[in-house]
Amino acid sequence: MKRKIAILGSTGSIGVQTLDVVEQHRDIFEVELLTANNNVELLAAQAVKFKPNSVVICNDGHYGALSALLKDEDVKVFAGADSVVELVRILNVDIVVAAMVGFSGLRPAMEAIRSGKAVALANKETLVAAGALVTKAAKENNVPILPVDSEHSAIFQSLQGEKASVEKLILTASGGPFRDAGKDEIYNAAREQALKHPNWNMGAKVTIDSASMMNKGLEMIEASWLFGMPAEQIEIVVHPQSIIHSMVQFSDGSVKAQMGMPDMRVPIQYALSYPYRLDLNTPRVDFPKIGELTFQAPDMERFPALSLAFEAHRAGGNMACIMNGANEAAVNAFLNGRILFGKIPEIIEKCMGKCSFLKNPSLEDIFQTHLQAVRTAQDFCR
Ligand code: MG
Repeated sequence: MKRKIAILGSTGSIGVQTLDVVEQHRDIFEVELLTANNNVELLAAQAVKFKPNSVVICNDGHYGALSALLKDEDVKVFAGADSVVELVRILNVDIVVAAMVGFSGLRPAMEAIRSGKAVALANKETLVAAGALVTKAAKENNVPILPVDSEHSAIFQSLQGEKASVEKLILTASGGPFRDAGKDEIYNAAREQALKHPNWNMGAKVTIDSASMMNKGLEMIEASWLFGMPAEQIEIVVHPQSIIHSMVQFSDGSVKAQMGMPDMRVPIQYALSYPYRLDLNTPRVDFPKIGELTFQAPDMERFPALSLAFEAHRAGGNMACIMNGANEAAVNAFLNGRILFGKIPEIIEKCMGKCSFLKNPSLEDIFQTHLQAVRTAQDFCR
């Protein structure tokens, strides 16, 4: 019996690497659904190669082009974000890989959970925006959320076989391209500098988040929900070599780590094959060549996004959703050359002060909050 997979966001960085994993294990995995926002050519090429049941192009303006490219294939072609949600619900799949960018991943991930499908979660914004609702739904529907984010996969792997109580989660961070940069240099950084990640090859949104270290803030909140740990028991440690992908400290002082070369295919495959570990053709660690693994504390002053994330998570309710929406809009504005890099955390902080705070938001409230946060941030970007 093959594991049937839906990949939401198949033309993005995680999607492409997921298909690379599938290709290395065609006897184990089978692709049922591929979805993308705009990249018609790549989506069509993936469909020809992996023969899914259905494909969806979210931007319905591309429907004609995609249909034409796939007219000789035995694959159903759909358009629009609603089709993604609908197909996630009705298709017979075992695992939904949630690899869409940003807040847009929430609705299909929630639908996967409600229809009893395991979620391989690459989309951290889902848990940041609606962690309480998503984890509650997963529990009620008895659905596992399998982490794809490398840090969370490392923690998940380190917890295997352990019944002992966990004292602390230690999230490692590369520090991004501005790890050693001065405050002013970071504030005025150009788009090209911010997009140059030293260790990981990722999409634009997460690469900018890494440069501001908001990514680690989002991951702290993600870890808190995934593993049921309060923020006080999550430590962030800068580890420039990105060999240790994260660690767990137990009540006897032992620390377990998961290590490997920085390659997203490892956590992707572990989420897909869990509880098994399969072979994978990836670069191996050469310890003598690496020479040393180093660690330092994060600098909240140069990277204010990090302290905003702790503040938002501590506030609870919809505050992390406000922060996330503001961040998405501000990152967008930065990528389009409308604001300076240093404005990103400033705008987020202003939005956190201005948007309506709700202590116990419903899912509908979360969607409204996101819209309000995006609009408020866009106003501040002008
Ligand atoms: Mg990560």
